[in-house]
Amino acid sequence: MASALIALGGNVGDVRATFRRAIGEICHSAQAMLKARSSDYATPPWGDEQQARFINACIEIETSLDPHALLAELQRIEQSFGRDRQKERHWGPRTLDLDLIAYDDIALRTPDLTLPHPRLFERAFVLVPLAEIAPDREVAGRRIREALARLSTEGIERLPDRA
Ligand code: ATP
Ligand code: CA
Ligand code: CA
Repeated sequence: MASALIALGGNVGDVRATFRRAIGEICHSAQAMLKARSSDYATPPWGDEQQARFINACIEIETSLDPHALLAELQRIEQSFGRDRQKERHWGPRTLDLDLIAYDDIALRTPDLTLPHPRLFERAFVLVPLAEIAPDREVAGRRIREALARLSTEGIERLPDRA
């Protein structure tokens, strides 16, 4: 079994409900066990500011799928929640984005999968939830909590747990 970190994001529809169902789906279909789940966070949009704020969260799973098979599963689940890459703009509004942040300590650069996720260290909206569940984990030789300390967390708000 491998340990995978997955970042969830979305800003269309009832995103928190989507996360809850998507996490269930990931565990079911990725032959995975949920090891940790962060809180949900409201975050300012990144890359394209002209859109509604996002909800973001991170999970850690243990899975027996290899990285490419796991990514394929994540993309299938995105689609099942209405994600359609043909119709969206880069970094624009979406129902559900599932990014594979890290998979054990594997470093990989292929046309459809880069590990660890190449923009991780620029993104407080990923590092804040990640630091909640894995502050001492090292990704690409950097500890999550130390990477986060270098970024502004302005505008990021932890949401109260839902009943
Ligand atoms: P960003 O990658 O900057 O967060 P995005 O999530 O909006 O942007 P998408 O349109 O969801 O980008 O994905 C574009 C492509 O990125 C996907 O088709 C996928 O093959 C590729 N990709 C490469 N590395 C990863 C990774 N670690 N996790 C998820 N997708 C990846
Ligand atoms: Ca993304
Ligand atoms: Ca993505």
